[in-house]
Amino acid sequence: MIALQNLHTHSIRCDGKDSIEDMTLHAIELGFDSVGFSGHSPMFYAPIHGMKPEEVEDYLLDVRSIQKKYADKIKVFCGIELDLYSKLDLTPYDYVIGSVHYLKIDGEYVGFDRNAQTVKSVIDRYFGGDGMAYARAYYETLATLPQRGKIDVVGHFDLITKHVENVCFFDWNSAEYLRYATEAIDALVGQIPLFEINTGAIARGYRKTPYPTADLLREIKRRGGGILISSDCHDKHFLAQSFQESIEIARACGFEETHVLTENGFEPIPLDKMKERMKI
Ligand SMILES: [Zn+2]
Ligand SMILES: [Zn+2]
Repeated sequence: MIALQNLHTHSIRCDGKDSIEDMTLHAIELGFDSVGFSGHSPMFYAPIHGMKPEEVEDYLLDVRSIQKKYADKIKVFCGIELDLYSKLDLTPYDYVIGSVHYLKIDGEYVGFDRNAQTVKSVIDRYFGGDGMAYARAYYETLATLPQRGKIDVVGHFDLITKHVENVCFFDWNSAEYLRYATEAIDALVGQIPLFEINTGAIARGYRKTPYPTADLLREIKRRGGGILISSDCHDKHFLAQSFQESIEIARACGFEETHVLTENGFEPIPLDKMKERMKI
C-alpha cells in the first residue's frame, strides 16, 4: 500500500540538483513507498527554465529505467509539471501537475516565479504598480488550466504569495484578494481533482508555511476539492520537507484524507496512514 509519496520532484533533467537515480535511492532511504518525477515541461517562451523539447524523450527513458531497476523497493511514477502555455503532449505521463509560472500579457510571456525585485518590476511594468491587479491576473490565468487538457493536480495554487512574508505587493488577507482566489478555486474544482499542499518555498527559505494558505485550503475543502502533499523537491535533502506540519495543517482545515497515485490512478488515504508511515 502506498501511504508515503512525493509526486512533485525535479531532477538534473530540468532544474533539480540530483539525478533521477539519486533522488529515488534517497526516497528509499527515507522510507517512501513511492516517488514521482515532475520535470518542467518545455516552454518555447522560456527555453532555459524547462526541459528542451529534444530532452523530453531522455527524461522519459531515464525515469522508466529507474522505475524498473528499483521496482522491488519503491514505486516510481513518471509525471510532468506542465506550465500552462507549454505545447507538450501529455499522453506519455502517469500524471500531470498543472502550474502557472508565466502570465501572457499582450502576447508577451512574463515570468514571475522569481526574486522579489523581479516581481516588483513585473508589477510596475505590466500592472502600473498595482499588486492586486497582478494577483487578479494570476488567478484569472490559473482558472483556465482545465482548458489545457487532462490535469490531475493544481500546482502551488497561490504561488504569487511566495514573498508575502517579507514584502507586501498586495494585501493577501483582504476580501478582494480572497475573492479572486476563491473564484479560481470555483473554476478548478470539478475539473482538476486535486490541489497540492506544496512545501517547496519553505525549503528555499521564502515561506514558513506551505502553499496554499490555510484560508484557501479551507475554501478548497468547502468546495469539494481534494489534496495531496508534496515538497516541490529540487534537492533530495528536502524530499520530506514539512510533511508532518502539512498533515496537521490539512487536518486543521477540515481534511481527513490526502491522495496518492497508485497503479489504479489517484486514491484517497487517511492522513493518519501517512502520518504513521512517517514515524518509520
Ligand atoms: Zn512550479
Ligand atoms: Zn515544481
